[in-house]
Amino acid sequence: MSDVVLEAVGLEKRFTRRRLFAADTVVRAVNGVDLAVRRGETYAIVGESGCGKSTMARLLLTLMRPSGGTVLYEGRDTAGMSDRELRALRRDLQVIFQDPFSSLNPQMSVGALIEEPLRVHGIGTAAERRATAAAMLARVGLRPEHADRYPHEFSGGQRQRIGIARALVTGPKVVIGDEPVSALDVSIQAQVINILAALKAEMGLTLVLIAHDLAVIRHMADRVAVMYLGEIVEEAPADDLFARPAHPYTAALMAAIPIPETGARAPAATLEGEPPNPVAPPPGCRFHPRCPHARDNCRTDHPALRELGDRRVACHYAEELTLPGIAAGTQRRAPAVERRFALLDARTQDNDRGERP
Ligand code: SF4
Repeated sequence: MSDVVLEAVGLEKRFTRRRLFAADTVVRAVNGVDLAVRRGETYAIVGESGCGKSTMARLLLTLMRPSGGTVLYEGRDTAGMSDRELRALRRDLQVIFQDPFSSLNPQMSVGALIEEPLRVHGIGTAAERRATAAAMLARVGLRPEHADRYPHEFSGGQRQRIGIARALVTGPKVVIGDEPVSALDVSIQAQVINILAALKAEMGLTLVLIAHDLAVIRHMADRVAVMYLGEIVEEAPADDLFARPAHPYTAALMAAIPIPETGARAPAATLEGEPPNPVAPPPGCRFHPRCPHARDNCRTDHPALRELGDRRVACHYAEELTLPGIAAGTQRRAPAVERRFALLDARTQDNDRGERP
């Protein structure tokens, strides 16, 4: 069996914005993305808001039809699947949303909410479903009596545990987390990260993590893809990416992580300006208007995503640039980032020692 479980091949998604008194405009939210997620790994897709990562999540989940290219699941092209095959696929391919509250029916008890995916997929008898849901509730650290309560009675972190229980109760092979902890504060983030990591190991899951927070990514990811304006600009094993980013955008994202207590940015932040308008992206390298290393040809020549050792990078000058990472020994270059990570590390270790709400 191939070790690739989920694959995007030349994946594209275009949205047409219809306007009354002007020509329609087309946004290329995802523009020719190739990626391969390996069985059992945590693969993270990271980038600023509007870079296309949430559209990628919906395409990978087959909740949205691509405008071009395709998604393969265990080598099978999802484009040609019947409705019945797609329904079966969704049992294997589940999602954890950013805001569990909006995805939980407020009129259903927690027990009924966790049982629902089993019922939809016709798994087990009513008694078996109840038992499976109760076991799942315990695995996410909630108590049996919580099954009879309603979503509004829970904190944000507890609601996300309910979301995780719902996603995992059918025994999926792949789980896509769309910003699963970004709505939570740092200490609660660490608890939810720990639960996800433990369940991933226990259940042999493959995890695709969509996030903008590099501190969370570093805790969980085996490999990371960095997206900018609908394209992957760098993909690398997580340790290598954090130790030595090869694309100026990756380095700028690392330098721009806010300090949690103050919201201030690292002094070395180099990510100037807003992302360009996706309706009319810049010619050449899409990052060139914000890139401190841009040269003349960057304004005209689009850099292809090419292999460089065990990473892929879309920059004409990746071999020449020495960009600051955030591995041990580089703290002086990005102190705010180290503090952000140190805080999350400490909270995660606290939780490893058994702290639970
Ligand atoms: Fe910067 Fe040029 Fe590399 Fe683009 S190709 S990231 S503009 S150096």
